[in-house]
Parts: sequence; C-alpha cells; structure tokens
Amino acid sequence: MDIAAERIERLHELARAAAAEGEPDRARYYVRLARRVAERNRLTLPRSFRRFTCDECDAYLRPGDNARVRLQDGHVVITCECGAQARYPYD
Ligand SMILES: [Zn+2]
Repeated sequence: MDIAAERIERLHELARAAAAEGEPDRARYYVRLARRVAERNRLTLPRSFRRFTCDECDAYLRPGDNARVRLQDGHVVITCECGAQARYPYD
C-alpha cells in the first residue's frame, strides 16, 4: 500500500473514532482531509469510506446516530441527518 492510501486509511480510522466520541466536527475535518489526499493522488476512496461518509456535508455516518439505514428494492438507502441520501446495491 502506498503512503497516500495508508494516510487515507488512518484518516478514516480517526474520523470513525471522532464520530464515536461525539465529535462530529472533528470527524468531518478528517473526512475532508482524506478526500483531499485521495484527490491529490488520484486515488479512489475505499468502499467502506464512501459508504460511511456523506457526499453532501462530509459527515462520518453512524447508523442510528446521525444516519438512517433502510432497505429498499434490493438497495441499501442511507440518509444523512443533512437530508442527503445515498443508495447502494445490497450485498
Ligand atoms: Zn450529510
């Protein structure tokens, strides 16, 4: 794994930890940083990162806390508290 990918992994961990500690603003900061690293290095963000972050407000999503998860027509629909929805095929 190269350094940028490792950095993204670590920022993902930090975002998850901050969200778990009730620090959404700090979590969002890490999410944005990770997106920037990915962009600058032309990397695709890991799937788990994409699923647990909001494209609209960069929140780190915690189902049952700041996100709602529903199953619909074979898709997982995640709704962020900002109102943005993301759909993924169920797997
Ligand atoms: Zn959002």
